[in-house]
Amino acid sequence: MNIIVCIKQVPDTNEVKIDPVKGTLIREGVPSIINPDDKNALEEALRIKDENEDVKVTVLSMGPPQAEVALVEAIAMGADEAILLSDRAFAGSDTWATSTALAAGIKAIGDYDIIFCGRQAIDGDTAQVGPQIAEHLNIPQITYVEELKLENGKVRAKRALEDGYFVIESECPVLITAIKELNEPRYPSIRGIYKGFNGDNIKVLSAKDVNADMDNIGLDGSPTQVNKSFTPPGRGGESEILEGSPKDVARELIVRLKEEKVI
Ligand SMILES: Cc1cc2nc3c(=O)[nH]c(=O)nc-3n(C[C@H](O)[C@H](O)[C@H](O)COP(=O)(O)OP(=O)(O)OC[C@H]3O[C@@H](n4cnc5c(N)ncnc54)[C@H](O)[C@@H]3O)c2cc1C
Repeated sequence: MNIIVCIKQVPDTNEVKIDPVKGTLIREGVPSIINPDDKNALEEALRIKDENEDVKVTVLSMGPPQAEVALVEAIAMGADEAILLSDRAFAGSDTWATSTALAAGIKAIGDYDIIFCGRQAIDGDTAQVGPQIAEHLNIPQITYVEELKLENGKVRAKRALEDGYFVIESECPVLITAIKELNEPRYPSIRGIYKGFNGDNIKVLSAKDVNADMDNIGLDGSPTQVNKSFTPPGRGGESEILEGSPKDVARELIVRLKEEKVI
């Protein structure tokens, strides 16, 4: 069985700041991490590998050369090999162009049974890339997966909803998007770290190498145009602290909220 896991290197968003003049992310000096949901996706692939014979896990990422660090970490966690799609032609890709590139990478890998993605990336936050890859490849998709079983070559997934869940069964190949409830990602092992830094298992491929559709990648192939990005100004409203016993404060609060027609 061949499993492909799409992982994105993202800035550690707790530390990201926006340039107040240019309105762009300040990436310099900001540590990067594997997108958290993608670690759950990788963990699930590794769990399947642990429990079944002849399972190969390949991680795939599109990004600049420094995204290789994320792939080293994925190998250190237990992935067999990694592919980085890195090319100036991919720069400025929106979700459509990103999924076009990743689907080309997956087609170049060729043989796959399950493709895992995270539900969404913590920087772009759209949750579009996984479903779009499934559409490009014309395979079924199950999103928001919180539990997964392999039974007789089929997958049986529990798909989280706001107020319940679906249980969905699918033939392979299938694309799954993982949420954090799916599992607890493992730490890299010492042996894995050695394997990762050895670098033999990481391939860097260009747009040409994967025969990507040049009209649908990069900035020119991106139908989305970002006109402006900015940090919303604070509300700046006046605040007041009510004083007194909890009972008096609660009573006063109710009076005020009624006056404002909030309740
Ligand atoms: C016009 C435009 C220009 C942009 N230019 C840039 C730019 O120059 N640089 C930049 O960093 N961003 C750029 N972006 C943002 C970029 O498009 C998104 O970050 C990217 O398409 C992925 O979307 P997302 O982050 O919402 O991923 P989501 O759809 O939220 O991600 C879901 C899952 O898809 C997989 N995935 C997503 N992206 C990748 C990836 N690259 N590799 C492997 N797996 C992945 C992961 O499994 C992830 O969990 C641009 C966006 C627009 C609209």
